[in-house]
Amino acid sequence: MTDVHGGEGRSTGHGDWTLDEFTRNGEAVLSFLDDYFSGIRELPVSPAVDATTLLARLDTGPPQRGEEFAAILDDTRSLIVPHLTHWNHPRFHAYFSNTGSLPGVLADTVSAALNPNAMLWKSAPAASALEKTVLRWLAAMLGIDQDGDGVLVNGASLATLYALAAAREAVTGLDVRQDGLTGYPRRLRVYTSDQAHSSVDKAAIVLGLGLGNVVRVPSDDGYSLRGPALAEAIERDLAAGHLPIAVVATVGTTAVAADDDVDGIADVCERYSLWLHVDAAYGGFWRLAPGGAEVATPLERADSVVANPHKVLYAPMEVTALYCRHRDALPNVFRLVPEYLRTSPEDGEVDYMNYSPQLGRSFRALKVWWIIRSFGLEGLADRLQHSIDLARWLREVAGSDPEWEVPVQSAYPLVCLRYLPRALREQHAPGSVPLGDIERVNAAVLAAVNASGTSFLSHAVLRDGYVLRVSIGNIRTEKSDIEALWEQLRRSAGQVGAAR
Ligand SMILES: *Cc1c(COP(=O)(O)O)cnc(C)c1O
Repeated sequence: MTDVHGGEGRSTGHGDWTLDEFTRNGEAVLSFLDDYFSGIRELPVSPAVDATTLLARLDTGPPQRGEEFAAILDDTRSLIVPHLTHWNHPRFHAYFSNTGSLPGVLADTVSAALNPNAMLWKSAPAASALEKTVLRWLAAMLGIDQDGDGVLVNGASLATLYALAAAREAVTGLDVRQDGLTGYPRRLRVYTSDQAHSSVDKAAIVLGLGLGNVVRVPSDDGYSLRGPALAEAIERDLAAGHLPIAVVATVGTTAVAADDDVDGIADVCERYSLWLHVDAAYGGFWRLAPGGAEVATPLERADSVVANPHKVLYAPMEVTALYCRHRDALPNVFRLVPEYLRTSPEDGEVDYMNYSPQLGRSFRALKVWWIIRSFGLEGLADRLQHSIDLARWLREVAGSDPEWEVPVQSAYPLVCLRYLPRALREQHAPGSVPLGDIERVNAAVLAAVNASGTSFLSHAVLRDGYVLRVSIGNIRTEKSDIEALWEQLRRSAGQVGAAR
């Protein structure tokens, strides 16, 4: 068979595969992935391998001659898979668990194959049109204006950076885009809670605002930022001659998945004419589920919003939706069109390169489209609700066990819990166990659970001490997985207790 390279259906040894090889290798890849997914429960969630060993095995130098794909795939099977922490594992509960769902996996393959560059409408019409479409669908799911500006970016951290760049540009009398900040006499201030994600700080570094100008306002007893504390911080800064520019509120905070009081914060932002960016990277899409909708914090008053399909909506990395209610606020920062890219967009056309600093852009919309169409809104709601229900169960069993406590509640499927063995409780009055003891015991439980390879957790440090964090969100997680986790937690706690 003649292939696209004019060859005879076999590799030239120094180039691309033939289409025959592509098909054959593609079948081998699908069969490899079938094995991987069907055996995922049996894999250790997290590997025990040190960096030196792993790097030595991988970095054997680039080969002079092209290799057989069978060898490459074998090495992927033996060197890569066993040495990954498996985010796809149903007992991965660290950070915020996510899922590369199967439609998403194949969509990424197709997107790589079609390889459009969605920088200009004209450079990729259907990719740009699909991006616009998917952004409207996601906006409807989030309950925000479908006709505002939006763009798909690689992650929430950069989305927050871009939003804050737009916020800064929107300040009257300040033209940082043109003049920079050199010589500007006032400090530009951004407010966020003591619970906000570190991406706010990173944005301040990159934007030249400076870490010292991120004002971390204390959250309340439930770890939510509220209007009065925010207004107080702003007043203090105004009295000191600083220039407040923006507030970043969080819907689904990182440590305990709390929501800030977005409505109260929006009132303060209105009063002081400040840009309100809402980081709903984690918390945005749970409102699709009935249990999430009941308690959802409305997002429509935000000037900009970020939410993460790659965290909650079963999309493979990297796809994040950034929205901006003010038309053109993002292009007003980032539009900079050299002659070779100059086009005259017609009605409805969007040149997405104007919405962020990124020029060449992959086709991120395809996987979101495939996922939403494959699941349907009902399917998504069911799966999200399932995670919420599993978290509720774990909270209940841990909360009613005298050796454990659940010190903070959340509407999201993130469970913070800690082991408080009888010995510790008996030595101290209620609520006065030394934080160091809580940490030592629970860090040991965490290490034991993770070393078991059966589940993988992370931790957080709250005001009343260290907690184990169990994020439930993987699409393959079943009740039996959470029961097994609870068993493992108690077993590991027993070992730690016995060793004290
Ligand atoms: C996950 C998360 C982020 C970072 O998201 P990336 O997409 O990994 O950059 C930011 N903020 C919050 C609240 C998050 O949960």
